[in-house]
Amino acid sequence: MSSRPVTRRRAEPRERIPKVGFVSLGCPKALVDSERILTSLRAEGYEVSPTYEQADLVVVNTCGFIDAAVDESLETIGEALERNGKVIVTGCLGARPQRILERHPRVLKVTGPQTYAEVMSAVHEHLPPRHDPFLDLVPPQGVRLTPRHYAYLKISEGCNNKCSFCIIPALRGRLASRRIDDVLREAERLAAAGVRELLVISQDTSAYGADIRYAPATWRGKEYRTRLIDLARGLGTLGIWVRLHYVYPYPHVDEVVPLMAERRVLPYLDIPFQHGSPSVLKRMRRPAHSEDVLRRIAGWRRECPELTLRSTFIVGFPGETAREFEELLEWLEEAQLDRVGCFKYSPVEGAAANALDGHVPAQIQEERYSRFMERAAAISAARLARRVGTRLRVLVDSVGEQGAVARSEADAPDIDGVVRIAAAGGLRPGDWADVEVTASDTYDLFARLEAAAVATSRK
Ligand code: SF4
Repeated sequence: MSSRPVTRRRAEPRERIPKVGFVSLGCPKALVDSERILTSLRAEGYEVSPTYEQADLVVVNTCGFIDAAVDESLETIGEALERNGKVIVTGCLGARPQRILERHPRVLKVTGPQTYAEVMSAVHEHLPPRHDPFLDLVPPQGVRLTPRHYAYLKISEGCNNKCSFCIIPALRGRLASRRIDDVLREAERLAAAGVRELLVISQDTSAYGADIRYAPATWRGKEYRTRLIDLARGLGTLGIWVRLHYVYPYPHVDEVVPLMAERRVLPYLDIPFQHGSPSVLKRMRRPAHSEDVLRRIAGWRRECPELTLRSTFIVGFPGETAREFEELLEWLEEAQLDRVGCFKYSPVEGAAANALDGHVPAQIQEERYSRFMERAAAISAARLARRVGTRLRVLVDSVGEQGAVARSEADAPDIDGVVRIAAAGGLRPGDWADVEVTASDTYDLFARLEAAAVATSRK
């Protein structure tokens, strides 16, 4: 036995772990920004606090898209200041710091959207990190705010369009695409971590790669270009659901539809059409406004009859006449969209549309909104009724005493309907299940469980 003395390291008194509270407001793009900041915070040993009171400092990721979102952001900053006192603000509203500082001069720092490094250096300044190599370990897929079984995949930042009602290009800058190998590697990591559905997001998914001339790159030994069709092909090899959001009807979108028919990506397109009247679309300065969209939709449905189309619209845009609104209703009737959201136009500070003539009075906006939503709801109910008696594969989101809430290929999380399964039969969130549809209402389906899909197959 060795007689050498055994030296023991004295236990160092552990420093207190710095805790950051985080409030994430706004759209999925802002959510992805939040996830990046949270990943950096965790990587540096910060803990994320669930309450204002337990946090040493609070970061608020704001939204500045419409006036209601600005109000919500300003109120949240006020709440964080009152209940914690140390607040850093980032996100879209941060691009207009005077708006924040006028109302909340005690804010420690204001940064704009996608300014991860600036947010981190402001956190360092006001709450230095504790060095602990064990805390520095972060799961390879990063920190996510979504449930374990689905994740948003952000492929680009910014936008090169000039829609007259929107200030996002001013807030978020011009299109900046991530190279395709970078995106595919992130998708691969997420799939390996158990994610079963990827939601591809950006401001303009169809424009992906245009700013970097569709740069070529290699992934898993194969050459891909940084463009939508190659992205769909690459993601389609992962064996999980892939859902495309914010696609504009440029001609090259047609190439993706055959991949949907083959189920390499979900037969689902989220296209924010915003209106059906060519003259309104022109005033809105929408991308691809001169495309004959109804003809394109008919062609897509011939190629892929299961295709689900989701869209959003604006009613009461400046100058919208009664005739233009009727055109929108006729367009909707012909397009027979599955999922529809609608906003009443509201002016956003800095948007070009504010200068247009003929702002539509609130009461007329309200009437048009009701008529539009009534029509959209009737179409939705009729389309869902056709599914009764069919079999579907669904992905389970939650399970409770009333059964399970799941989604089919036709349902994106949070924005679309759901499939309600009466007797959950041992299902868990993240399971795939085979169900038979027994009933439908305006937005949801009701189903009976046939079998939990044990295999990890998406089909
Ligand atoms: S496409 Fe239009 S609405 Fe969308 S972010 Fe770009 S400018 Fe705004």
